[in-house]
Amino acid sequence: MPLQNDDATKAGMKAMLDQLERQQKMIGELQVLLQTSEDNAANLDNRVFQMRTLLQSGKGFSQMHDLQSLLDAFMAVCRERYGAINSTVLLLDDLDPKRILYRVRGYFGVDAHFVDSSGVEEELYMFKLPHDRGLLWQLIHQGDVFAVRDMRRLPRFETAFKKWNLGILHSDIWVPLIRGADVLGILTLGECADGSQIPESDYTFLEEIAAVAATNIDSTLKYEKNNRILRNLQTLYDVNQQLINVNDYKHLVKETLSTAVKALHAQKANLMLLNKDTNRLEIKVVYGDIPASTVEAINEGNLETRSFEIGEGVAGKTALTRKPIRINDRLEIEQVGRYPVYCIMSVPIVYGNNVEGVITLTNKVRQGTNDLELDPLGRFGVDDEQLLVSLADNAATNLNKTRMYNASITDRLTNLYNARHFESRLSELRESARVAQTNFSLAIVDIDFFKKFNDTHGHMAGDFVLEKTAALFRDAVRQGSDDICFRYGGEEFCMLLPNTTALETAEQMDLFRKSVENALYPWEGKELYCTVSVGVAEFAGLDENLSIFETADKSLYASKEGGRNRVSCYSNGEILPF
Ligand code: GH3
Ligand code: MG
Ligand code: MG
Repeated sequence: MPLQNDDATKAGMKAMLDQLERQQKMIGELQVLLQTSEDNAANLDNRVFQMRTLLQSGKGFSQMHDLQSLLDAFMAVCRERYGAINSTVLLLDDLDPKRILYRVRGYFGVDAHFVDSSGVEEELYMFKLPHDRGLLWQLIHQGDVFAVRDMRRLPRFETAFKKWNLGILHSDIWVPLIRGADVLGILTLGECADGSQIPESDYTFLEEIAAVAATNIDSTLKYEKNNRILRNLQTLYDVNQQLINVNDYKHLVKETLSTAVKALHAQKANLMLLNKDTNRLEIKVVYGDIPASTVEAINEGNLETRSFEIGEGVAGKTALTRKPIRINDRLEIEQVGRYPVYCIMSVPIVYGNNVEGVITLTNKVRQGTNDLELDPLGRFGVDDEQLLVSLADNAATNLNKTRMYNASITDRLTNLYNARHFESRLSELRESARVAQTNFSLAIVDIDFFKKFNDTHGHMAGDFVLEKTAALFRDAVRQGSDDICFRYGGEEFCMLLPNTTALETAEQMDLFRKSVENALYPWEGKELYCTVSVGVAEFAGLDENLSIFETADKSLYASKEGGRNRVSCYSNGEILPF
């Protein structure tokens, strides 16, 4: 049955063909299935790799406590994944609270310098991007990775690029570093080594690793800040402890300034005080990278420096506004000296309603180096300002305390120390001489016939002569010695002379006596004069039952008895005229 056979064959063939077709379809489907699962496997593999990178990086990042290493590691991980040729990290800069800026804090494969708007070559670390409400910032705030150049390699944000000179970053894509609601910074990545761009499919990974990095950058910044605050508190505590019993104004201002310079790593500093008579700021102390001879001359008051009007210069403006001034942009600082000033900070010393002075710091030096190597990238931050303000407040309180203390131990008419101070210095000296077995002398001076002088010329003339005689007495101290003068009472003065014998003192006092004898003081058309009698005693060899004061007083009495205008000296148990 050929027909039947034919039919049967046809039907058989058709069935076979159908089956073949079905099988082919199945194979096709299987192939598709296989391909998909291969793709899936590859995707999965890729994802596993990404997750591992994320985990490892996260672990690595969290172990780094200094910002620079962290940024370098973060940039390296991102670059290596795509073979990107360069990268930079810009971070929020809190140096100036009035302006939000992002500054380069790490870079790789980009020129280390750039030319700023004024044509000056600057280090790339100085490159900054201001925050505004433009499209670029809107995108950054969304937190998504985006390309800053299109397929034709042209900048997508032409205006922003031109305005802020962004071409120097040579970037293809930007990765915002987001922490909570804040933009901590931006990672920029350049093209790959083969000239291709980083594929969009990888943006998610970049966002994830950026989130891990941002967390770590944030904690590192906070760690560094807390460390600074802790150090600053320690500095304040130390300086307070150190100055708690200091009543010497020179010591106070010197110590305040040197503490500020050391704690804030400043290159130079000066402390000005307001001269109430001239209403000008006068430099009293300098510190830092300044020739030692200049420092000594200024700090010891032997070199007159120029003074500043209120409102003049940064220090003058600080005194005028009574607010700290901090400038961290070299171009905004008036360059007056020979060397460039990269940053400057001035804070007022204010007590009550009065400006007492200004402390000014300029430039930073590299930390951890013994020699004062300038750090042109160093800036004065908010923490620096807070510390300096505290130091200035401290100085104001201490200066005032010192002023009050000094007023309490100073005689108003003659400006010599008063009797109260004499008593305490005498007992101190007695004690230290007893312990160390050293000698010291005391001279008591009394103006002769001063009652009569007052009766003849009037009390005012008396005061005038008292003042003049006190000035001669002050001139009688030996240069570089520890001699101290006091006004003990009405027309009586004393001098304490450590490590000096009675004979040496008598000699010194006789010169003083002669200077008084020879002095003439013009007063209301007359020429006034007076004489003094002096009694001297020394501590060494003094009888236990005798006080040095009583002994010197006895010598004085001997001088008076002997005819006045003379010096007597108690030594080796007897009183002798000099
Ligand atoms: P002697 O040579 O013995 O020291 O005689 P004297 O007159 O200086 O001694 P006395 O102690 O009798 O008198 C001291 C006088 O000094 C009494 C007072 O009129 C005068 N005097 C004390 N303090 C002051 C002062 O602050 N200003 C003036 N102008 N006179 C004073
Ligand atoms: Mg007297
Ligand atoms: Mg007298």
